[in-house]
Amino acid sequence: MSQKVDTSIDREAKQKKAVEPFERELPLVVLGEMVIMPHMTVPLQVGQGKSYRAMEQAWEEDQEVLLIFVSEEEIEGYKSGQRQQLPHVGVIARLDEFIKLPDGTVRIILEGLTRALLGDAVQSDPFYRVRCKPLIDTEPIGMEIEALMETVKQQVDEFVDYLGEVPQDAVAFVHRIDKPGHLADIVTYAPSFEFTEKLDVLNELDPIERLRKSYLLLARQLELLKLRQKIQQDTKEVLDQSQREYFLREQMRVIRRELGEDEESDDPIDELRRKIADLKAPDYAKEQATHELKRLAQQGMNSPEAGVIRTYLDWIISLPWAEEEMPEISLAQAQKVLDEDHYGLEKVKERLLEYLAVRKLAGNKMRSPILCFVGPPGVGKTSLGRSIARALGRQFVRSSLGGIRDEAEIRGHRRTYIGALPGRIIQGMKTAKSRYPVYILDEDDKVGQDFRGDPTSALLEVLDPEQNGTFSDHYLEIPYDLSQVVFIATANQLDPIPSPLRDRMEIIEIGGYTEDEKLGIAQGFLVRKQREFHGLTLEQFQLTDAAIIKLVRMYTREAGVRNLEREIASLCRKVARKVAGAADEGTAEVKCTIDADDISTYLGPERYSFGLAEESAQAALSYARFKAEALGVDPKYFEEHNIHIHIPEGAVPKDGPSAGITLTTALISAMTGRPVRRDVAMTGEVTLRGKVLPIGGLKEKTLAAHRAGIKTFILPKDNAKDIVELPQKVRDDLQLIPVSSMDEVLKIALTRPK
Ligand code: ADP
Repeated sequence: MSQKVDTSIDREAKQKKAVEPFERELPLVVLGEMVIMPHMTVPLQVGQGKSYRAMEQAWEEDQEVLLIFVSEEEIEGYKSGQRQQLPHVGVIARLDEFIKLPDGTVRIILEGLTRALLGDAVQSDPFYRVRCKPLIDTEPIGMEIEALMETVKQQVDEFVDYLGEVPQDAVAFVHRIDKPGHLADIVTYAPSFEFTEKLDVLNELDPIERLRKSYLLLARQLELLKLRQKIQQDTKEVLDQSQREYFLREQMRVIRRELGEDEESDDPIDELRRKIADLKAPDYAKEQATHELKRLAQQGMNSPEAGVIRTYLDWIISLPWAEEEMPEISLAQAQKVLDEDHYGLEKVKERLLEYLAVRKLAGNKMRSPILCFVGPPGVGKTSLGRSIARALGRQFVRSSLGGIRDEAEIRGHRRTYIGALPGRIIQGMKTAKSRYPVYILDEDDKVGQDFRGDPTSALLEVLDPEQNGTFSDHYLEIPYDLSQVVFIATANQLDPIPSPLRDRMEIIEIGGYTEDEKLGIAQGFLVRKQREFHGLTLEQFQLTDAAIIKLVRMYTREAGVRNLEREIASLCRKVARKVAGAADEGTAEVKCTIDADDISTYLGPERYSFGLAEESAQAALSYARFKAEALGVDPKYFEEHNIHIHIPEGAVPKDGPSAGITLTTALISAMTGRPVRRDVAMTGEVTLRGKVLPIGGLKEKTLAAHRAGIKTFILPKDNAKDIVELPQKVRDDLQLIPVSSMDEVLKIALTRPK
């Protein structure tokens, strides 16, 4: 018999139970804390009671019983005959075996046949007999169901992989199941499912919903299994490690004694005690350390916990606690340091000096904002941080926050965790060896968040001058004073930084460098730095300007100078090898002045073709083709004309992409015969589909246009925010028009068609 099953209808059906046509009346067997699903065969041993008598009777009749599944508490009610409220869903099962054993119990085998909806009891003594109605699943089909079934089967495979000991037959059997409801039922065989979870699956009458439930349950089980395996693995590693350490220490001790060295420090407890006494730390820290040392002494160095306590003590001892006298900030000195280390970056340096000036005047009284450098990789964010440290006469440390998802990575794990350690902030402080460092928090835009606690709030505590005087690391347990640290954050992008963090920061944006600036940086800094680093002299290694330009154009493609520096380092290595080789052989001294033409012999063929501008021409051309018809250009134009765009590599460094809309306008003007207005200047990158993208250096470009007496200046909409930074005179004299598409540009720049 087939019957449409629908959960909503079914819910109603339950309410109108009295009118349901319950076609069967079966002896009732109540099972506690277990579920037998349809298609499942289970051997059981059962004692005397109503269920026993029900089965005895069924064995005489047609061997069919109605199973219901209840919790341990509920079963007591049934046994004593008080419990009358029956569940809505049960399983009709066949009794395949019924063997009375000498001890009065009975061994049975039950085979689940089908789900059943329950009606009322028609008899309660000597056993319950209950009206019921078998339910057969519908057999829905469809892609989504297929996909879901496939996913569940894969889950089963994965599950089996983790458990190991499941017979292959069983797995193959699961793979042959082609009905979602059946598959859902079978999945609950997994021994780790809870009784209530199984019951939940049983009670779901819609086969697809049921499969979804099973899927979610399995997914959770899998997560648990994976987690458990990871924990076991971690534990093992930590234990192995501490055992190894113990053996090594013992060996060291024996060797020391053999050598007659350092007899008195032989007792590690004494040595620790001395170190704690010498510690220039606040009293609470020393007290904590002494307390732990006492525990260590009581437990003995060989106790399992000794390693953990020693590691903890080592942390407390090696952290910088002492107060130091910080040198007075000299702005002139700071300016000198910043200039010594960095080419250009005038605006950035100015803001840093302002920042330092405020710090100098307000001292520690003021809540100075956290500096945050935002810009693409290799523009000098980290090295500016280093300079600030140098200017302030402080230590320098950095921690990357990239990929941090867990509060514990910032704040550490409690010591009760195996293998616990302090979080990154405290680790950084240990490296700094001073309580007053400049501390760079890299990649602030890559902080994630998930269910194990949001790292942002921990970071906020780190950065908040009102709170960070008593920063609490879970591992350390005692407060640590971060209030003297100069924190600087860096990020590639502003947007992903969580806004509560951003609100605390003074953002300093560092855009990319032009070709000229890169040349300046290389000649002024990078070449010298790498030359010294590789132990070469000025005679031995030099690069001509042309060589550097070639590196910039053909071997790197970046906003910053990181790869440029890498390529220069690579050249240094090659030259260093020559120099060393020549010294070995006693041949003449090597003197390398590398010019543009020599580069490829050192670094291999060019890696990029120069000219983003040419690239812009490509985009311009593609857009023109795409728009040809709408612009009234004969499509044959492109067949009949050979388009040649010549951009001489002249004196003016064209920072390529920003010429995009200009080129496109020129091209379309040529194709349509509509001249370009003379008093219009423009800047913006263009995409293949004619979208106008932002550019850098708006100020310089508008200044040039202003000088040339231009009246109208078209700029990308995304650069509109930079307008406020332009000189007032420029803003007054120029009509600045932000646009987002090429269509708008053409409307403004081209004269009307004749
Ligand atoms: P970021 O932190 O922005 O990724 P880095 O600070 O690591 O970049 O800079 C990469 C390299 O380029 C460093 O060696 C740095 O000293 C150098 N550099 C970047 N900008 C300049 C500059 N304006 N002047 C001198 N060197 C620079």
